[in-house]
Amino acid sequence: MFSLLRELIFPDKCVGCGTWGRAVCEECLSKIGGFKLYGKAYAFGIYEGVLRDIILNAKYKGYGRPIVELISFYKDDLLFLKKDIDLVVPVPEDPLRRKTFSHVALFAKELALRLGKNVSFSLFKVRPTPPQVTLKKVERERNLKGAFYFNGELRGMRVLLVDDVLTTGTTLEECSGALLKAGALKIVKLVIAVSL
Ligand SMILES: [Zn+2]
Repeated sequence: MFSLLRELIFPDKCVGCGTWGRAVCEECLSKIGGFKLYGKAYAFGIYEGVLRDIILNAKYKGYGRPIVELISFYKDDLLFLKKDIDLVVPVPEDPLRRKTFSHVALFAKELALRLGKNVSFSLFKVRPTPPQVTLKKVERERNLKGAFYFNGELRGMRVLLVDDVLTTGTTLEECSGALLKAGALKIVKLVIAVSL
């Protein structure tokens, strides 16, 4: 009875450690690498532990609140981006695997809100491709060649391109190419986590 009551008052449970109260607790959030440049992209840490839990919950269970809390926790570290970018663009879902809820779109919306910028959903994947994880590096590059298209005009804009996980960076490279083709001046890449 007591636990039921507690559940009603605090419906969230930390995806990292299971503590009741928040979708991700501050202790778990303070243990990840922190928001900085990890090679090719800005990220909150390595794809492991609580960051992996945050991504998997959003991606496969449609549970997005941990992403919102992640951004909120690191909001001060993100603010410098405000002067470096004009628009936020999420990496799109594969047309064949598209779901009603896109965790990358949610991540992009939350970032845009924090930075006071607009978000554009005009970057499309124009043809379905096999999941990158099933392919070797050379095949990955070939797999995504020309797979993305930005439907619009980005002349002179500095774009914050966002995705969930950076692995080889091929997806972000191909998306950057599509944004530059649409006239973007500069692309800043940001992911939730980088995979080793
Ligand atoms: Zn926790």
